[in-house]
Amino acid sequence: MTDLPLPDPAAIAANLARIKARIAEACAGAGRDPAEVTLVAVSKTHPAEAVRAALAVGQAVFGENRVQEAAGKFPGLRAEHPALRLHIIGGLQTNKARDAVRVADVIESLDRPRLAQAIAEAIGKEGRTPDLLVQVNTGAEPQKSGVARAEASTFLRECREEHGLAVSGLMCIPPEGEDPVPHFHFLAELAAKEGLSTLSMGMSGDFEAAIACGATQVRVGSAIFGARSYPA
Ligand SMILES: *Cc1c(COP(=O)(O)O)cnc(C)c1O
Repeated sequence: MTDLPLPDPAAIAANLARIKARIAEACAGAGRDPAEVTLVAVSKTHPAEAVRAALAVGQAVFGENRVQEAAGKFPGLRAEHPALRLHIIGGLQTNKARDAVRVADVIESLDRPRLAQAIAEAIGKEGRTPDLLVQVNTGAEPQKSGVARAEASTFLRECREEHGLAVSGLMCIPPEGEDPVPHFHFLAELAAKEGLSTLSMGMSGDFEAAIACGATQVRVGSAIFGARSYPA
């Protein structure tokens, strides 16, 4: 971590302005209202100072993929900025469910019955109810989190009926190096079929395509904060 460049607040502000302009353009092209699309600034691996630079120019929604990193970075920032919203976007171990419920406003990686049960228990204990998205492994990649396409509807019903969880939407991460559009279409169709309104899809490389397919949340990291100097 010693070779991590210091965050450059001016660069982060300029990058944010550029991404927001591109989101507006993509919305215009798709005949959509930009107010329908939330920009989640993915700050994983970047220090609290980088998040502060984004907060200073009005960005309030952030994404982290590791609960422990988020728990270290965000409580202080939240005290400074009560409007801050934190999304946990990475695969979640069952034994981290309680920490996730404590720090997150949105958990985007609900993907299996044991995790649903752990989150439901944690909500009971913490008295705090983050919004929940079900992650779908649309590319059937063994190394990736997410419920299989064919099991998604059954799992959604199980979340509601057996665990009393209100799921508000779906999330996916298409396979690297593949055309993401068929994955985005699949997720949008599944959400429509299930009556779910939130669609988290699209990253630095493909958020415009995701917006054209109906994304309501895009998760953009490197195009805002720069390259990550170690893998997340
Ligand atoms: C890191 C990450 C992102 C952001 O990726 P970039 O390519 O840096 O924009 C988005 N979603 C998830 C789940 C991630 O882990």
